[in-house]
Amino acid sequence: MCGPEVRDPEAAGVKEQVWSLVSELIWRMRRGPCLAVLTLHRVGADLTIQPDAVARMFAYLRRHFRMMLPSQWTGGVSEPSAMITIDDGHEDAHDVIYPLARREGVPLVICVPTDYFLRDRWLWFDRLNWAIAQCRGTPQVRVGGETFFPDHRPSVVAFKMHVKSLSRSERDAIVEDLIRIVGREPPAVMPKEYRPVPREAMRGMLATGTVELCAHSVTHPVMTRLEDAELREELARGRAELEAFSGRPVVAFCYPHGQAGTFDDRTQAAVAQAGYRIAFTSVPGVNRPRSFDPLRLRRIHVHPRLSMFTRELAGLGGWRRRLAGAD
Ligand SMILES: [Zn+2]
Repeated sequence: MCGPEVRDPEAAGVKEQVWSLVSELIWRMRRGPCLAVLTLHRVGADLTIQPDAVARMFAYLRRHFRMMLPSQWTGGVSEPSAMITIDDGHEDAHDVIYPLARREGVPLVICVPTDYFLRDRWLWFDRLNWAIAQCRGTPQVRVGGETFFPDHRPSVVAFKMHVKSLSRSERDAIVEDLIRIVGREPPAVMPKEYRPVPREAMRGMLATGTVELCAHSVTHPVMTRLEDAELREELARGRAELEAFSGRPVVAFCYPHGQAGTFDDRTQAAVAQAGYRIAFTSVPGVNRPRSFDPLRLRRIHVHPRLSMFTRELAGLGGWRRRLAGAD
């Protein structure tokens, strides 16, 4: 376990400690069969989610849950169980997260889009992020009928949400327009912060048996915006390519983006038809037997504070989001 540190977000104040205690207590009282799935994206000393916070969460999971990989799931839930998922497979999945998982003895599920992981193609939203980053210092940018302010985070977030809501062709057009405004293409060799886990490094992790791949499509589209044929292609090829790479069956799918609206009954039927046994969304929450839907699994997004995680486990997350008007 981690020792106390000067920048420990757990020491964030009395209010936080009270929340933490209440959540922990309620969670222990409600503790029963469930599947908790933690979501990680990027982790690093210079990022919002720092390695010490992740180590704390891993240690907590190992203490309180039976840790599982998708291939070990036998249907339903009969005890407190958990999985740890990493979305997209940026290089820090290997350099930062994997050593922590080894140290804490927890398995990892890495969800990778195959164009990115196998062919080193930029993720479309990383191209967008790169282009937006080049615009910093510009007061405002007008593109595709939208205006955003590159140095104003809420404006950038709203612009990105808008782009995500578009069809694939509209989305690509706006990203390319922005790159034209920037005046140069993203570099062919991705800068470190955008790079995927190198394939050899992935092979090394898979060989330990503590890491499993999860399909995450080919191009990371919003699945509900795809035609039926495109949907089938993203689901079948994304899986077949990972199976060919790893030589193992891939049983899990992770909906790209994953929030409500990026999957629906049609996409779920396609996921089932493609032969996946489980599918992860980004809808927050814990999966309990009464509401358990293996093809729409809820997940808990990693947070700098462990108490936010226990709050979600205790079922207080939805209540808090409603209070904040975000649910
Ligand atoms: Zn993703």
